[in-house]
Parts: sequence; structure tokens; C-alpha cells
Amino acid sequence: MPIYEYQCEKCGKDFEKLIFSSKDESIACPDCGTKKVKRLLSTTRVVGGGLDNCAPSPSKGFS
Ligand SMILES: [Zn+2]
Repeated sequence: MPIYEYQCEKCGKDFEKLIFSSKDESIACPDCGTKKVKRLLSTTRVVGGGLDNCAPSPSKGFS
């Protein structure tokens, strides 16, 4: 299951969201509720394995 990271364009909060399907049009900021959020594609990762990661570098800040 992919987790996408989003950033609110209104308050600047960044948050993560599990995406179960391609219907991600209703993503809203958990802080201010706006739907003006952008997906940060560079931080996309997969739960339980890094299939898309080619570099075996240690995960940063994962605790
Ligand atoms: Zn917000």
C-alpha cells in the first residue's frame, strides 16, 4: 500500500495519507480542512518494503 505525503497549500502542514485507490480527490488538510493540498511525489514510499527504492540507504527519520 502506498503512502503519499501531502502538503497543505494554505497552512503549510505536511501529512501522510494511505491511498487505497486512485480516488484521491477528497484529500483534505487535517488541520485547516482545505482541499488545496499538493502531493509530494518525491516522498512516496511503500509500506512493508521499498520496491521502488533502488538505493539501499537507511531510511531517514523512520521510528
Ligand atoms: Zn492546512
